[in-house]
Amino acid sequence: MKVFVVNCGSSSIKYQLFDMQDESVVGKGIAEKIGLPMGIVSLKIEGTGEKVERELPLPNHEVALATILELLTAKNIIRDKADIGVIGHRLVHAGEFYHSSVVVTEDVLEKMTECNDLAPLHNPHNITGVKTCQKLFPGAFHGGCFDTAFHQTMPDYAYMYPIDHSWYEKYKVRRYGFHGTSHGYVAQQAAEFLKKPLAKLRVITAHLGNGSSIAAISNGESVDTSMGMTPLEGLMMGTRCGDIDPALVFFAARKGVSLDDFDKLLNKKSGMMGVGGISNDMRDNWKAIHEGNKRAELAMKMFTYRLKKYIGAYAAAMGGVEAIIFTGGIGENDWDVRKMACEGLEYMGVELDPDKNKGLRSKLADISKPSSKVKVLVVPTNEELVIARESYRLYNETKKR
Ligand code: ADP
Repeated sequence: MKVFVVNCGSSSIKYQLFDMQDESVVGKGIAEKIGLPMGIVSLKIEGTGEKVERELPLPNHEVALATILELLTAKNIIRDKADIGVIGHRLVHAGEFYHSSVVVTEDVLEKMTECNDLAPLHNPHNITGVKTCQKLFPGAFHGGCFDTAFHQTMPDYAYMYPIDHSWYEKYKVRRYGFHGTSHGYVAQQAAEFLKKPLAKLRVITAHLGNGSSIAAISNGESVDTSMGMTPLEGLMMGTRCGDIDPALVFFAARKGVSLDDFDKLLNKKSGMMGVGGISNDMRDNWKAIHEGNKRAELAMKMFTYRLKKYIGAYAAAMGGVEAIIFTGGIGENDWDVRKMACEGLEYMGVELDPDKNKGLRSKLADISKPSSKVKVLVVPTNEELVIARESYRLYNETKKR
């Protein structure tokens, strides 16, 4: 059985095709620049490493998906689309509706639409993606994993904002959290690696990529996470600000900054990019730092300082911690960020091993000293695999009924 995992954005579709016999990825790629005069669709064939690219106008998601299917068929990865029995959708916001992965039905789409206000940049495109797949694969089973679902276990005192309660009652304004599929996956992987049941561990998972968030997971359940009603809250990120004084909104308004410009400032021109002025990519920032760029250095210090503060806060929230886990493009690859984030945490039992840490990339490993009371792990994330597994599980369960 082949499971096709899709992640639909406004102008792109990322995909991975899994063979569930051995959970291998047989092909993956991306359709980009949907809606622009010229688009591009790529496919990487896993076994051979061959890469194919096709440039053509992609006026909408349907043409993009059809092109992906054409490429997969032309390269004999599938005979035709009937080979794909299950589609797994990466979905963003489910509000308070769903706590786990779902069979995507009309009802689910309606509930997602109700959450459009909470995730205007993501949910409408996710819905378009599902509808397009339903049209192109009328016989397939559709499953989905929401980014918010894993964090639905947060207690009310962690997820509520300290504002007028009627905003929660009227608009469901509260903290939801994101990257849930990743936090849940790496926590489970870490527990297996440590040979301890996750239900008996307190772990802090730092998913550090272009978007970054950190979660406190106690007894297998998310009890707090840094992203809020939207993915703007929390850690400093590539281009997003993370936590700031909300009064900046009034300040900006009085300075005559429009709402759209302020939105762009906080989402696209802040974080590493905004402070350092170089790039949202850590590699570019390190290069600039090594060349003596002081602002890039400041940005890096802020990034790791804010990360460390959250680690301390979550250890306090859980009354202790057994493992800190780094994942995401930065967490998996950037040993200097890991080092700076752990520096000074020896008082709480965190002892990073500099030799194990340095040079370690994208590999599950313990990077703490044997004497470290708190284990520090690097765990590569794999959200697509979780979505494939969950959708396949739901398909099998539904078939049995
Ligand atoms: P996304 O959040 O878009 O899924 P990723 O999790 O892939 O992103 O993370 C991308 C980021 O990871 C890049 O912007 C860069 O900052 C960082 N990164 C990737 N590789 C390295 C590396 N070798 N060293 C330092 N940072 C890296």
